[in-house]
Amino acid sequence: MTSDSVNWEAVRADFPILHQEVRGNPLIYFDSAASSQKPRQVIDALTRYYEHDNANVHRGLHELSSRATDAFEAARNKVAKFLNAASADEIIFTRGTTEGINLVAQAYGTRYVKEGDAILLTEMEHHSNLVPWQLLAERTGASLRFVPVLEDGTLDLSKLPELLTPEVKIFSFTHISNSLGTVNPVADLCRAARAVGAISVVDAAQSAGHLPVDVQALGCDFLALSGHKMCAPTGIGALYGRAEVLEKTPPYHGGGEMIVSVSLHKSTYKEAPHRFEAGTPNIAGAVGLGAAVDYLESIGRQNIAAHDGELVRYAQQRMEADVPGIRIIGPRDRSGLVGFVMESAHPHDLTTYADRYGLALRGGHHCNQPLMKKFKLPGTSRASFYFYNTKEEIDRMITILQEAARFFS
Ligand code: PMP
Repeated sequence: MTSDSVNWEAVRADFPILHQEVRGNPLIYFDSAASSQKPRQVIDALTRYYEHDNANVHRGLHELSSRATDAFEAARNKVAKFLNAASADEIIFTRGTTEGINLVAQAYGTRYVKEGDAILLTEMEHHSNLVPWQLLAERTGASLRFVPVLEDGTLDLSKLPELLTPEVKIFSFTHISNSLGTVNPVADLCRAARAVGAISVVDAAQSAGHLPVDVQALGCDFLALSGHKMCAPTGIGALYGRAEVLEKTPPYHGGGEMIVSVSLHKSTYKEAPHRFEAGTPNIAGAVGLGAAVDYLESIGRQNIAAHDGELVRYAQQRMEADVPGIRIIGPRDRSGLVGFVMESAHPHDLTTYADRYGLALRGGHHCNQPLMKKFKLPGTSRASFYFYNTKEEIDRMITILQEAARFFS
């Protein structure tokens, strides 16, 4: 697959922040797995919303309120289409992946998970897809189980039959590992969960903006994403919930907007998704997420995935061939990020060194402490790419890493 049909230089020009110097060098932003940059189209949508349409949603009977409501609900429709959800009612706006997973753990988990049940996770989960389940397990007396990670950074699926038994009520796993770049076989895992009567929860923080994600084809019950990793603002995300499962999930937060009627001692609640959106939502954020979805669709996620793939293969090949003392962690077949260690330097020191040359990497445990422990590493350095990056930037990174290798030896 190639992405030759897209003018990538013109795409890069959409991102004002990329065209600056940092510490006297052209910025090389290789930290998009932590947070992506925003194109002018998204920034303009936010400005337009605040300059023309800003008001609270759903409540007011005035023109601006109905415009804000329309914009908010239009964004919900865009996200639904983007994920191929059967209906926009299956899309709940959240602050991000972390909140989406907590919502499932708190609302669905508290109602349906009991003592003696099990929650199945994997050893490669981000803390956001681990700690909420630990809290649920503590509250309910359920146990946690983990699909092991093999030396090559893939899941040991041979262990699935003994782990995924009828006691498992929830199987929650990441689509793409934020440290290893592993792409998990989501559809197979969702099918396996359903076969034992468990619901599946997919952490799509690293995948939603990078490759086509079709919730119906994947067959998942819940899927959580973060807007800020896919060109949208911070503080907005979405949780997809399959209608049948959402219908039987009680509310999460209580407050305005999620109720039908309230008396002093009892309230009744709206249907999904409004039942899960108490209080004034992040309206501008949702508008920004809608604009980001439009933007990503205009490039095409197949093209984005192909371009990411070309960058990551090139980076991998150059790092292995041209930088002494580097070890890449994770499978060869990976999404658009490379986690690595330089034998002579702690990841924090290497990342700080790179920053001196305007190269933004990430160094540390990447909210994957159990995984780092498993690989006996204090952490890794991570270069993560998005479609606005170039091979020339990778070449510059290689030069900086070569100099670092000399500096630290
Ligand atoms: N899961 C994965 C795989 C991630 O990479 C991240 C962000 N680093 C999260 C969950 C959490 O996302 P957020 O902080 O946007 O809620």
